[in-house]
Parts: sequence; C-alpha cells; structure tokens
Amino acid sequence: MNVLVINCGSSSLKYQLLDMTNEEVLAKGLVERIGIEGSILVHEAPGQEKVKLEQPMKTHKEALNLVMAALVDPNHGVVKTLGEISAVGHRAVHGAETFSDSVVIDDAVIKSLEECSELAPLHNPANLIGINACRELLPNAPMVAVFDTAFHQTLPGEAFMYPLPYELYEKFKIRKYGFHGTSHKFVSLAAAKLMGKKIEDLKLISCHLGNGASLCAIKNGKSVDTSMGLTPLAGLEMGTRCGDIDPAIIPFLVNKGYSVEEVDNIMNKKSGVLGVSGISSDFRDVESAADKGDKRAQLALDIFHYRVRTTIGAYVAAMDGVDGIIFTAGLGENSTTSRAAICSGLKYFGIVLNPVENSKRGQATIISEKESKVTVMVIPTNEELMIARDTLALVK
Ligand code: AMP
Repeated sequence: MNVLVINCGSSSLKYQLLDMTNEEVLAKGLVERIGIEGSILVHEAPGQEKVKLEQPMKTHKEALNLVMAALVDPNHGVVKTLGEISAVGHRAVHGAETFSDSVVIDDAVIKSLEECSELAPLHNPANLIGINACRELLPNAPMVAVFDTAFHQTLPGEAFMYPLPYELYEKFKIRKYGFHGTSHKFVSLAAAKLMGKKIEDLKLISCHLGNGASLCAIKNGKSVDTSMGLTPLAGLEMGTRCGDIDPAIIPFLVNKGYSVEEVDNIMNKKSGVLGVSGISSDFRDVESAADKGDKRAQLALDIFHYRVRTTIGAYVAAMDGVDGIIFTAGLGENSTTSRAAICSGLKYFGIVLNPVENSKRGQATIISEKESKVTVMVIPTNEELMIARDTLALVK
C-alpha cells in the first residue's frame, strides 16, 4: 500500500511516497518558490538521478500536478498510475483543542481546520490549500491530517494554561499548544525501542533542535510539557526566533516607536542566534565563527545551550525524574559540540556522555556511558514516516 505524504508551506511543498508494506521511500521531492518567480521542483527516487524541473508554478495545485506527473513519469516515475497511491497523509500545523489525534479528512474536518487558521495564520491556510488541491487531483484516495499540536493535547492544565485572566482562554483559546508533536512522538517511540523498554514505563525528554527548536517532556508515552506555546515563537532561542522573553519588552519597544508588526517581525525573523551573533541563523556558520573566536557567536551558542539545559532541568522536575534524553533534528542529530555543551551541566542528574559515541552523526545511537543514570540518545527524526504510519492506521 503506497501512502503519499504532503507537507505544504506557504510557498513550498515537500512530498514523499512510501511503500508501507516495508516503509520504503519510493520517491521524495521538494517544490520551492510556488507563486513567485523561479519555481522549481526537485524530484528524487533511490537509484535514479535527481530530476530538476524549473517552470512557473503559480499555485499549489499546479505544483501538485507536476508532482503527480513526476511520480508517474515513464522515465523517472515510481508508479504506473495515480491509482497506485492508496492514501494521502497531510502535515497540518495547528489543530487547536479540536484535534487530539490524527483524523480522516472530510468536509467537517476542513471546516474545523479553517477555524483553527486564526491560531496559525502562516501555516494552516497553506496546509488547507494542499489538502483541497489533493482532493481534486486524487478524488478516490482517502486523506488524513496529522497535526503538529495533537501529541501535546495530553498536557495537564498547570502546563498548558497561562496565568492570564481565565476569560482570555475561554474567549480566544489562548493557551500553550506546542508544536513538533509528530517529531517528538516519533523519536520517543524509537527511543523506547532503542532502550529495549516499553514507552509506558519511561520518562523521556525529547530535544528537537533545528532551525525551530522545542523540548518535550514525555511521561509514559504522553506529552506532559513542551517549550513552544500558543505559537512556535515561545521557548528556546532558535535560528531567528527569540523564544521566551519578558513580555513587557513588547510594550516597551512599542512605546519607543516600533509598530506591533515591527516587533513581531524582530521577534520571529531577526532574533535568536542570528540576532545575537549578527552572523547567521544557521548553526553551522555560528559554530564556525565561534571556533574562530567571535564572541557574539559564542554568546549566541551559550544562550542556546543554557536554555536547553535549564529546560531539561525543568522537565526533570515536571516528571519527577528522567530515564532518557533524546537529541534530534538538524543540530541535535549533527552537532557533537552542542550535545556535549548541553550535557556538560547535567552531571548532577547522573548524565555522563561517551565522547566516542557522541562523535557519531545522523544515526540512532546511545551516546551516554553505560554507567550513566540517564540514557542519552541521538535519534534521527522522520516526521514523514510518522505521518504515513498514522495515515495507514486510520485508512486501513
Ligand atoms: P532543521 O530545521 O532540523 O533542518 O535543522 C537546521 C539546523 O541544523 C541549521 O541551523 C543547521 O545549521 C543545523 N545543522 C545541520 N547540520 C549541522 C551540523 N553538522 N552541525 C551543526 N549544525 C547543523
């Protein structure tokens, strides 16, 4: 059974076609610059040369049409007809309190997704465009929405409520939702397997450290706290996002003459490691500048490591202990130095890294010493596979 996974952004679209009899990736690709000049589709299938197609793609539907054509192309395609695509799984960013799990898409789900758009104005409308275009192009394939927020719907009130007047929650649903849920769920299940334990018996902290970064406390397989909030701006320092700051900074800057939109733009796009280092939002650039002695680059990294470390400490308190810590996503999977810097301040919890194992990259592995009280792991995330698994489970 082949499942197509679609992840639609505002001007981009990622896809993967998986054969779910063995979870093999048949093809994957990326369309960028949809609706703007220079649209490009890059399509890859194992054992074949990459195919690049540069032609105008004004809408997501046009882009999806070309994706479908690439999948059935006689030369570089991987299926004979679109009928061989049995189901489609869509990444959906915000499911608010409406969706606590993945769901088969019907008209009612689309209406609810539209209602959630207010909480994720950059993401949900793009997801909806992708869903609607796929419904037209593959009318017989069942579709499933898999939400970034769903995994965190198990957060207890004390973790998800902000201490604001209660009516703001009632009126506007202002609360912590959390994101990266598909990734946190995937790596926590994989970590339990790697540890040879049942997820129901474990207290885990998942560190998804990429351009966007969040931590998640997972007790007995359920998310009990996470660092992002109402939006993905909250929590850790990120590539360009500031994470948690004193909220009074916002009116302070507005009183200094900045508009609310300018402050919003600063916090989302000009802060984080980019804002502090003044060099780049890419951790590789910042790490190499710090290696050459750049003080601001080093400070940007120190802030990042400090916040991850102190949030780990908070989640040990949230769960009254921790059995395993997982590093995942671009930086978490690859940066030996960041993992070492974060764990260097966690000796009190009995965490001891094995430097040889910690030097490995991009593979599921235990990087702590045998005598370490807490198992520290690197687990490459695979949100597409998680979406395909959920899709399969729901349409079977
Ligand atoms: P993601 O959002 O998961 O794709 O992660 C992207 C981030 O991971 C970027 O800031 C990259 O600089 C960072 N990253 C990827 N590979 C490495 C590496 N080898 N060392 C340090 N950072 C890395």
